[in-house]
Order: sequence, then structure tokens, then C-alpha cells
Amino acid sequence: MIERSDIAVVGGGMNGLTASLALARAGHSVTMIEREEPAVLSGDGFDGRVSSIAWGSRLVLDNLGAWDAMVPHAQPILEIRVSDRDAPLFLHYDHKDVGDHPLGYILENRYIRRALDAAVADEPGITVLAPASVTAMERDGTGANLTIDDGRVLRCSLVVACDGAMSGVRTMAGIGHRTIAYGQTGIVCTVEYERDHRGIAHERFLPGGPFAILPVPGNRSSLVWTEKDAIAQRVLQLEPAAFLEEIAWRFGDFLGDLKVTGPVWSYPLTLVLAHHATAPRLVLVGDAAHRIHPIAGQGYNLGIRDVAVLAEVLGDSRRLGLDPGDAVALADYARRRRVDTFSLVAVTDGLNRLFSNAIPPVALARDLGLGAVERIPPLKRLFMRHAMGTVGRLPRLMRGEG
Ligand SMILES: Cc1cc2nc3c(=O)[nH]c(=O)nc-3n(C[C@H](O)[C@H](O)[C@H](O)COP(=O)(O)OP(=O)(O)OC[C@H]3O[C@@H](n4cnc5c(N)ncnc54)[C@H](O)[C@@H]3O)c2cc1C
Repeated sequence: MIERSDIAVVGGGMNGLTASLALARAGHSVTMIEREEPAVLSGDGFDGRVSSIAWGSRLVLDNLGAWDAMVPHAQPILEIRVSDRDAPLFLHYDHKDVGDHPLGYILENRYIRRALDAAVADEPGITVLAPASVTAMERDGTGANLTIDDGRVLRCSLVVACDGAMSGVRTMAGIGHRTIAYGQTGIVCTVEYERDHRGIAHERFLPGGPFAILPVPGNRSSLVWTEKDAIAQRVLQLEPAAFLEEIAWRFGDFLGDLKVTGPVWSYPLTLVLAHHATAPRLVLVGDAAHRIHPIAGQGYNLGIRDVAVLAEVLGDSRRLGLDPGDAVALADYARRRRVDTFSLVAVTDGLNRLFSNAIPPVALARDLGLGAVERIPPLKRLFMRHAMGTVGRLPRLMRGEG
């Protein structure tokens, strides 16, 4: 049986859900296909990570009607303090320097997913097929046929691949990609302590990689501890008391006694960059197009900006009577996403190399460089606006227009 939709979104992770919402809001009929059971993806046992949501991303989520349900779980980031090993604080961001709103928010991924799931369920233009897996894709001059593992075929004008860094759709389309295994693992857990974190996030650069302390509601923070793979494997095997000891000396005692709550998670860290963001009748969005190092907490934010630009470009071509797979619109999308994507790939990769390096001249250059950023206010504000995702030509969804 052949089913039809203007757009097929493959993958119902955070980017697939966001893309489905934005494209349906722009007037397209959307079918989202997700391999896993959605309740498993948003359950407590699936994803232990939090995401820092940049100010610009919050504007998009708000415009899509998903933000209100996230608010009770969102911790505003009021300050960010960056330090290098034993060196004193050398880079300090304060929300008061950029306006009357926070720098961004920290949210547990499961709450992001639940809010997006609810918004998708309320959107009449979206059909969800899940659990269902795309097993084949054929494209022609007017659209694409996707074969689903239950035998159904979906005909659409455009395929939006949100199927993650190992994207099967990208492979089916013959789009190559570059991969760098960082040899690092992100160890993620939540700690609870005695004192109020006051909305302050900390990034400490340690020899194995960055150690991020991300405040969440309550006297709690999510930790993202990046370590070399071999060390991480040993850390993950430690007994709880020894694990806490390792955490405690990296964390310090400025918030009082610590305890680890909940499970410890681990994620291998890789860079994946697709050679092209589009192909005829196909767009790659989110990790399917680019997986970056979490050093700056920007992976999902980058995907949200993909989505905001795609919705705008396709919305404009729809108003001109063009179909969503129109080649000119896809070329426009690819052009508008290039600079943001390449700069974040380069910055996150470069920062990780710079800060995971203990060679003295490199360490000195690093401290001088960041010391300079701290002392030059316009440069500091520019860095801050980049982190907030509000630099360059902003898509309408970030300017409060639907
Ligand atoms: C340790 C760590 C910390 C991070 N912290 C942050 C942060 O603070 N801020 C931030 O912005 N980003 C952060 N990120 C990055 C962010 O988590 C990712 O960029 C984001 O989750 C990617 O989402 P996605 O939807 O593109 O891909 P995925 O989450 O990989 O989703 C892909 C989906 O596609 C489905 N799928 C795959 N193949 C098929 C198929 N053939 N048919 C149907 N479905 C299919 C899968 O089941 C999956 O649900 C972090 C990443 C890590 C590793």
C-alpha cells in the first residue's frame, strides 16, 4: 500500500520531532518515522543527558508551542565560569552583559522529548509511524518512495533525514561523510549537593578533556566529564564510593557535600560531517548532517537552527506554489547552513584539541588567548552571542515570527 505526505521525516529524536513540528506549522503534511517505541525514547532509562538550550533555540521551541511544557524543568543559566586546570577563573560570562534574559537553559533530554512528543501529538498535520524503520529509499524527478519495514511504502516530495550520526538514509543516498573518533568518552551523571548553584555553569579544562558542571532545577547539576577512552573505561568500572571520590576532587567543595544520584551514563565522542547537506529530494538535518564534540553544548542547538532555516526556506517556496523538494529551495538551505555548520565543527574540534593538550606552549597560548577574550568586551560579547545562537541572519522562527 502506498501512503502519501508532502514531507517524510526519518527519525524521531530531538531533531526529528522539532523538524516535524516546524514543517507541519509551515503548512506541509508530514509523516515522521521512528524506529523505536516513542515511550522508550522519552522514558527515564533511555538518555541520561541534559542539553544546554541556547537563547535562540528557546525562541524556536517557544514559537513551535513546545517551550511552555519545558519551563518547569528548565534551569536558566545566569553565569558561565570557565577555568583551566589549576589556573584561577579566566573567562566569566554574565547574563547581565547581554540583556535582561538568561544566557540559555539546561534541561534533561527526557523533558525536551516529552514536551516535543506532546506538541507533535497535538499537531494535526503530522502522522507518526513508530516503531517503524525505513529500509530503502528511491528518488526520482518528483519525489521519493520510502520502504518501511512493515512493507508499507511512503511517497513524498522531500525526505528530511534526522536519523542520527550513523544515518542510514545518508548512506542510501550515497552521501559520504568524514568521521574523527576523538578517543574520548563523555561520562554523564547527576550530582546533588547542599548549597544553591545560583544558575552558574562551570567548564573546567582538565588534561583528559573538559569537565562541565551544568545546573539543573534543585540543588543538582548534571556533569559531563570528558576522559580519554582507556581512562573512562576504568572510571566506569569503579565502585560508587571510588567514583564519587574521583568526581569530588574534580568538582571541589564549593557547594558542600556531594552525592551521585541515578545511573552513570557514557557516550563515545566522534565528529561526523556529511560531505553534502542536501541531495535531490533529500535534506540532512541534525546529527545526520553533523555530529560535533559536546565541549560547547551546541549539537542540538545546531540542529534547531537547521530546522528553523529549513522551515523558512520551504515555507517561502510553498507560498510561491513550489513543491517542498524544489531544487532551488534545497540549494538555498544548503547555502544558508554552511557557515554556521563549518564554524561550529571547527570551533568545537579546535577547542577540544587545544584544551586537551598539556604541552606547556599550547597551555600558555590557550591561557593568553582566553585571557585576551576576557579583557576585550566586544570580543567577549561576540563569543557570548555565538553561544546564545543569535549571530548572523536569524531565521523567522528565531525572530518571533512563525
Ligand atoms: C555527552 C553529550 C552531551 C551533549 N550535550 C549537548 C548540549 O548540552 N546541548 C546541545 O545542543 N547538544 C548536546 N549534545 C548533542 C545532542 O545530544 C545531539 O546533537 C542530538 O541528540 C542529536 O539528535 P538527532 O535527533 O539529530 O539524532 P538522534 O538522537 O541520534 O536521533 C536519531 C533517531 O533516528 C532513529 N532512526 C535511525 N535510523 C532510522 C531508520 N532507518 N528509520 C526510522 N528511524 C530511524 C533513531 O532511532 C533515533 O531515535 C550532546 C551530546 C553528547 C554525546
